Amino acid sequence: MTDSLSEPAGARPEVAVRDLGGGVRSVAVPIPDNPLGYTLVYVMDTDRGPVLVDTGWDDPGSWDVLAAGLEACGTGVGEVHGVVITHHHPDHHGLSERVREASGAWVAMHAADAAIVRRARETRPERWFTYMAAKLTAAGAPDEHVAPLRGGPRRSTPPGLAPALPDREILPGELLDLPGRRLRALWTPGHTPGHVCLHLEEEHPARLPGRGRLFSGDHLLPEITPHIGLYEDPDDATVTDPLGDYLDSLERVGRLAPAEVLPAHQHTFTDAPGRVRELLAHHEERLSGLLSLLQQPLTPWQLAVRMEWNRPWEQIPYGSRNIAVSEAEAHLRRLVKLGRAEAVAGSEPVTYVAV
Ligand SMILES: [Zn+2]
Ligand SMILES: [Zn+2]
Repeated sequence: MTDSLSEPAGARPEVAVRDLGGGVRSVAVPIPDNPLGYTLVYVMDTDRGPVLVDTGWDDPGSWDVLAAGLEACGTGVGEVHGVVITHHHPDHHGLSERVREASGAWVAMHAADAAIVRRARETRPERWFTYMAAKLTAAGAPDEHVAPLRGGPRRSTPPGLAPALPDREILPGELLDLPGRRLRALWTPGHTPGHVCLHLEEEHPARLPGRGRLFSGDHLLPEITPHIGLYEDPDDATVTDPLGDYLDSLERVGRLAPAEVLPAHQHTFTDAPGRVRELLAHHEERLSGLLSLLQQPLTPWQLAVRMEWNRPWEQIPYGSRNIAVSEAEAHLRRLVKLGRAEAVAGSEPVTYVAV
């Protein structure tokens, strides 16, 4: 036995584990230096051992919390049978390689996000910088914003950051091969092109009204509007409509009407259809707001500068401005697709105007 006196303070990670009933628990795995705080990694019992939904951020402290959390669930990281990834972002997929190394577990992901992982492993940073510089120039970004990208990366990416290549593909609509459980994949593109939600079709353990439980990843969160930007891909010139994808995916989740939502951040909640309606209304309001800005022709950059963010544009840091422009472009694509805005012929960089 050890007690707090025999151990230096902080030697044991603080672990927040919740038993959600029906053989499902959550472990809050910290995301260092991030206002989101943590990723909820879900641990689901199966007849072959625990299966995780997401793994958390790749950081030694986060790993310790995940390992201790699994122990608190009465299992261990070496027992993990499989890992189901909602999407490729590092706060979800970061620790997958370590879990696989420790346990031999398979890692499953939708093909569209697996393609992004493959590209991230293969694309040299220089190529990425050239692509971003060209994109921002086309979006009307001022030269002082684009200039730092032209020199390429100042230092090479540290080793060990390559995300894990998945070894199984999650097919839309499929019932995953999990002995003793009914978990169905629901493809919900928008936040990323290969984002999936996972529907645990079993009756809710507390018999709440509705259909089972939904692991919603970042698609449906109780109090956060997920970021919807462009699907950045230097090798693909297809004009995608991520916001349109997202809104369609939201409606599908609303129609599913799960009894409870188990999101990857914040906390579990009920009334998924109500939350879906809030988010649809939010985006509709945002699109109308943009249309009034687009009474005069604007580049995506000019639109981003005029849009409402959580702080004034002058205070938005460099990297977040790129994300903001990407979000402005996603909204423009939607408006163009709906026939509510159009590109001004011959403008360079291209400007958009309400029709
Ligand atoms: Zn995400
Ligand atoms: Zn996330």
